[in-house]
Amino acid sequence: MLRDFLIMLSESSLARSFTMHAPGARSVARRFVAGETIEEGIATARALNRAGMKVTLDYLGESVSSREEAREAADTYLRVIDRIAAEKLDANVSLKLTQMGQDIDEEFLHENVTRVFARARENDMFVRLDMESSAYTQRTIDFFRRAWDEGYTNIGIVLQAYMRRSEQDVKLANELGARVRLCKGAYVEPAEVAYQAKTEVDANFVALMKMLLSDGTYPAIATHDEKMINATRAWADSHQIPKDAFEFQMLYGVRRDLQEQLQRAGYTVRVYVPFGVAWYPYLMRRMAERPANMFFIVKAVLKESPLGFMFNGR
Ligand SMILES: Cc1cc2nc3c(=O)[nH]c(=O)nc-3n(C[C@H](O)[C@H](O)[C@H](O)COP(=O)(O)OP(=O)(O)OC[C@H]3O[C@@H](n4cnc5c(N)ncnc54)[C@H](O)[C@@H]3O)c2cc1C
Repeated sequence: MLRDFLIMLSESSLARSFTMHAPGARSVARRFVAGETIEEGIATARALNRAGMKVTLDYLGESVSSREEAREAADTYLRVIDRIAAEKLDANVSLKLTQMGQDIDEEFLHENVTRVFARARENDMFVRLDMESSAYTQRTIDFFRRAWDEGYTNIGIVLQAYMRRSEQDVKLANELGARVRLCKGAYVEPAEVAYQAKTEVDANFVALMKMLLSDGTYPAIATHDEKMINATRAWADSHQIPKDAFEFQMLYGVRRDLQEQLQRAGYTVRVYVPFGVAWYPYLMRRMAERPANMFFIVKAVLKESPLGFMFNGR
């Protein structure tokens, strides 16, 4: 399956090096990534705020194996938090634990990430822990639970509708009063742990959405699927759940029309804005979600090749 192949490529260092050096690849990435620097991330957040959208900023990076790199990632988040606070932006941050040292050592990870949680808490800011592949689900939830019990209640998790276990995890989060982002799930997972058919994933998404809207704490419904969005709106309407009790979230560069439509209809919309040089695996997951996005890559590569005249109207 093309999706599985693209996800596999997202984990290949050879494909990463090839793609990152391919002509035009960087300009394709710019469709889904705000830029490579903090400045570019902040400028994008500012523009989205002006357009009425909230933002979550993600400093790209994952599967980090050196302590130095993991510390540098946390330091970058500290600077991002300071910038958001200084500019009074309507934004928070999302991070991946494997970027912070989850593959290195649990205590190192804890020491590294709680610096970010603490700085965010000082600024009354929320931090979202993105969810990665199923190899990390239990560890991420355990880590989240430990930090929550230590008083970092300004953090929340992501639960994936394709995971069979997510119903139990939603119950736990609802009992704690923790904020959950619900998404379908972006990795390739075996049938033992994850639903494989789109119909099953969608049905579980709707079931979990209902649990979160009715019993959860300010859930985030993260999807570009109009069916999921309409089901959420219908459930909220029929259960007198006010529009400010939850938010919709979408990825930067994806379905901007839908983002604006929801915002105009009075819903809170938060845009997930990634920035940084490590854009390759993120970009490949966006390709896997919608292989038609590959067209942008092919077009950009051709544009900068000797065949470029075909795209320049010459
Ligand atoms: C804010 C946010 C945060 C996320 N965080 C995580 C996370 O922490 N962990 C995780 O595993 N996954 C995460 N995801 C990704 C998510 O799991 C899905 O892979 C992704 O959102 C696609 O699923 P969908 O709900 O949009 O529905 P789909 O059924 O995949 O798509 C529905 C429609 O949306 C449009 N669409 C979807 N994706 C794209 C795209 N890339 N480009 C263009 N159009 C597209 C298409 O029109 C498609 O027909 C996140 C998604 C969002 C929006």
